[in-house]
Amino acid sequence: MDYRGRFAPSPTGRLHAGSLVAALGSWLCARHAGGRWLLRMEDIDPPREVPGAAAGILAALPAFGLEADGPVLYQSTRDAAYDDALARLQAGGHAFPCWCSRSDLAAAGGLHRDGRCVAPPAPDRPPAWRLRAPDVEVAFDDGVQGPQRQNLREAVGDFVIRRVEGYYAYQLACVVDDAFQGVTEVVRGSDLLDATPRQIWLQRLLGLPTPRYRHLPLALDAAGRKLSKSDAAHPVDPADPLPALRRALAFLDVPVPAGATRPEELLAQALERFDPSRLPAGAGRAAS
Ligand code: GLU
Repeated sequence: MDYRGRFAPSPTGRLHAGSLVAALGSWLCARHAGGRWLLRMEDIDPPREVPGAAAGILAALPAFGLEADGPVLYQSTRDAAYDDALARLQAGGHAFPCWCSRSDLAAAGGLHRDGRCVAPPAPDRPPAWRLRAPDVEVAFDDGVQGPQRQNLREAVGDFVIRRVEGYYAYQLACVVDDAFQGVTEVVRGSDLLDATPRQIWLQRLLGLPTPRYRHLPLALDAAGRKLSKSDAAHPVDPADPLPALRRALAFLDVPVPAGATRPEELLAQALERFDPSRLPAGAGRAAS
């Protein structure tokens, strides 16, 4: 099979120890399978975007020896495809306009359910668009975390696919673009494990294939907090790539000998020893 993996960062900060783990894990799986490794810049949230972050991430990856196959897909260029997906979901009766604010929903118990809005329509303001969350269990077998199931109605409720501001939500854009890029396996951090049933449901409604999923253990800092690009914690230094690459490999339990002097050499050693079926599931390991 023509394996395609991807790394899909959001340009909210510099590449950090956690995102290096996701990049490395997806690269190792793709190269191990003899497949392609694609890049996608998830630049669909201008308010959260940090100027220069996209270019910084893309410049850093090759310094760690992580070279993509083919051009980067920028989500900021993909509105027409998202418009089309939204139109299909609307036409199928799966998406509905919603004027409920976060505080409206908090007062009503937190989740939006059964397509029932708390706030009345306000035709003078644009709505968000939500996807109706059915009372069904979506199940999948994660290649690292094992069998998963989630009842969408109970766990997440009707979820936003296009925001009031007119920006498309991550869930919709991710699903449309994983299909557009022909991704056969998604390898990413476990912070997105509970988003996966929403994505699988969207794939079913849109008639798109469901890739395989492997969710890597989440990289935590020494205090047990998720490492996130946006808090600017733990950036990795592309000018001195070997220490961060060694830590990322250790985090993924990939044994490598000492002595490599270039990232490409270290990655080649890692690839010889890498076995995706032995990726560790557990969270809570310090990555930095
Ligand atoms: N853009 C997301 C992030 O940086 C990752 C999306 C994904 O891998 O599906 O957290």
